[in-house]
Amino acid sequence: MSDKIWLSSPHMGGKEQEYIQEAFDTNWIAPLGPNIQKFEESIENYLVQDKHVVALSSGTAAIHLALIMAGVVLDDEVLCQSFTFSASVNPISYQGAKPVFIDSESETWNMSPIHLESAIVDSIEIGKKPKAIIVVHLYGMPAKIDKIAVIAKKYEIPLIEDAAEVLGSSYKGQKCGTFGDYGILSFNGNKIITTSGGGALVCNSINDKERGIYLASQARDEAPHYQHSEIGYNYRMSNVVAGIGRGQMEVLDKHINLRRKNNQFYQELFKDIEGVTVFIEKNDDFYSNHWLSCILIDENLAGFNREDIRLALLKANIESRPLWKPMHLQPVFSTCSYFGTEVSENIFKAGLCLPSGSNLSELDKEFIKNCILEFIQSVNN
Ligand SMILES: *Cc1c(COP(=O)(O)O)cnc(C)c1O
Repeated sequence: MSDKIWLSSPHMGGKEQEYIQEAFDTNWIAPLGPNIQKFEESIENYLVQDKHVVALSSGTAAIHLALIMAGVVLDDEVLCQSFTFSASVNPISYQGAKPVFIDSESETWNMSPIHLESAIVDSIEIGKKPKAIIVVHLYGMPAKIDKIAVIAKKYEIPLIEDAAEVLGSSYKGQKCGTFGDYGILSFNGNKIITTSGGGALVCNSINDKERGIYLASQARDEAPHYQHSEIGYNYRMSNVVAGIGRGQMEVLDKHINLRRKNNQFYQELFKDIEGVTVFIEKNDDFYSNHWLSCILIDENLAGFNREDIRLALLKANIESRPLWKPMHLQPVFSTCSYFGTEVSENIFKAGLCLPSGSNLSELDKEFIKNCILEFIQSVNN
């Protein structure tokens, strides 16, 4: 249905097709060309911090390359936030390594530094030091990345920052994705900016960037004939879709402001509704792009649960979605170790993501508001 209100849908800025046309006009219809370079440069300039960016076919590919570059191989252990989308974890399995899941803390919903450190201490005690840490910043909210970076340094374990949902978010003024040894970004269709599908690896050195490009382009040695000394991948971004990325970078900050306004809209809407809290930054150290606005519902106080409200919205053709189901509760990862309590599990049970696109109109919001107020009223009667 055309008038469905989506959780988060693509929002073009206007210049994207011009840059795609450039690719056609110059015949750079390939996984290399000027759009890729310019897109990478625009991300590097945006992140500041002297980073080196490799544009790739997906965020998942970026995580895979980060693990390879961190030296993760068969039977290694990788510590990973449990509360996340499966794409954060799957590449650990691609390497034949084992995920060890870490619970979240309740202020940012992201990795608990306390459980992270006990997992590390535990692994070292049994002689199996983890080979990498994957911390995820969910829904736009920066993790307690300063504490996590200190722990990673202390134990000398490479830190991979899954920043797929936080482009433009920052912690103490520093952009998410720039704290770790590697950062990863996603430009999938529902992310804050999109290239229809795509991702990027954020590196600390030009050497790492060159190695990333080499691995992403079938690991060809320097020789006129095709010679290979390592296993390679076909993970580079296409120069056509990089044109979309160039256009999207021009409107990123504008779109962040719009998403933050959506969050304010929900704060206003729920402020007098008992048992419902909108997820916001704990203090000024955290700056969220509010990719998705989320609520937690205390069923005892509210008199309804997240499924009740989700189904009521669905009836009105409004998409909403439960939060990520923690990975330690997923059938596919049921044999993996887990460090934590029930923080992420409880957030999962009580939470819901609401429509958050930067292209939500005032009319859309009015409609959402009326549906929610009507629903609340029907519960109270
Ligand atoms: C979207 C997403 C990814 C994967 O990115 P793709 O570009 O879809 O491969 C990884 N991690 C998180 C947390 C995501 O939300």
